[in-house]
Amino acid sequence: MKFENTNKLKQLIDNSNNIVIIPHTNPDGDAVGSCLALHCIFKKLKKTSIVLSPNTAPDFYSWTPSFDQIVYFEDNPKIGEKIINECDLIFTLDFNDLNRIGDLGNIISKASSNIVMIDHHQNPKNYADLIFSQPDIGSTCELLYEIFMSLNYKKLIDKDISTCLYLGIMTDTGSFQYSSVSSRTHKIVSDLLKNKINNSKIYNKVYNDSSKSRLNILGSALNNLTHLKSYATAYMYINRVDLERFDYKKGDSEGIVNYGLSLKDVIFCAIFIEDINDGDNVKISFRSIGDFPCNKFAEENFNGGGHINASGGRFEGSAKKAIEHFLKVIPNYKNKLL
Ligand code: 5GP
Ligand code: MN
Repeated sequence: MKFENTNKLKQLIDNSNNIVIIPHTNPDGDAVGSCLALHCIFKKLKKTSIVLSPNTAPDFYSWTPSFDQIVYFEDNPKIGEKIINECDLIFTLDFNDLNRIGDLGNIISKASSNIVMIDHHQNPKNYADLIFSQPDIGSTCELLYEIFMSLNYKKLIDKDISTCLYLGIMTDTGSFQYSSVSSRTHKIVSDLLKNKINNSKIYNKVYNDSSKSRLNILGSALNNLTHLKSYATAYMYINRVDLERFDYKKGDSEGIVNYGLSLKDVIFCAIFIEDINDGDNVKISFRSIGDFPCNKFAEENFNGGGHINASGGRFEGSAKKAIEHFLKVIPNYKNKLL
């Protein structure tokens, strides 16, 4: 893959020694994997780099190479601000809008160093000096691999870096099931496997290492699954009381939304999850099969966005109120659903 900005990126990297790498809030496998892959590349280039995350990632990513070196902005915003002000180059990975990193966004917008965006979401905002935006690619990790190739970094990609990249490609493609997966994706995965990564272990660490609370919360969501047959749609919710009852820990609700699509004839599903600290704040995830545009639905109705088959949004009010709103707007999409 050719990028018009490869030379500019090379120059920026060559002229920098103190680099900060930022994932989005609540980093997922693609955000963690891409940030740590880039961090490990910079180590090989003998450059100082810091992964500065707005907040913590779920425990089931903690085995990722160099995960223990991530610095968390929420733990000490003053130190986070100092890190930004003292660096000479900033990378923002797996997001394209500063509103995806909370208070850290204000600091970045005032930073004097150059900013490089590497991302695969639609409609990038214009905050970066150099933009690598490829919404047709299924994960930031896949895009980052292409960028590494264009920079002639292939020889630097060792087992640890390959592990990080595989993590992001695997998680953001739903383990290679989404339509974003191309023959190129598999070619890249083939290259990563040649570096002796343990693909089976990576899968098991992410998906087969659940805490009891994660399974109990899955149970509570499945228990209230509703099938809207006339819209080929299913939805679930998890309220604050159940999160407390089952001892919710960060990450426990990740991926549950996908179970909605496993129901026969369902092509669109949603999950409404109340905030454990604030039952009037609901996080919503949408998933679809085929052409139904989850991102458009999230943008138009729940102040969110994302990709065609996976998106998210928010609602102020209880899960019950959010679902009332959902049921009110879903008839507007009937012709796209059937
Ligand atoms: P998830 O459901 O896994 O949280 O998110 C699925 C996709 O939707 C991700 O690619 C994520 O970037 C996007 N997304 C989730 N929440 C939001 C949101 O509140 N706003 C926007 N613009 N995108 C979101
Ligand atoms: Mn991603």
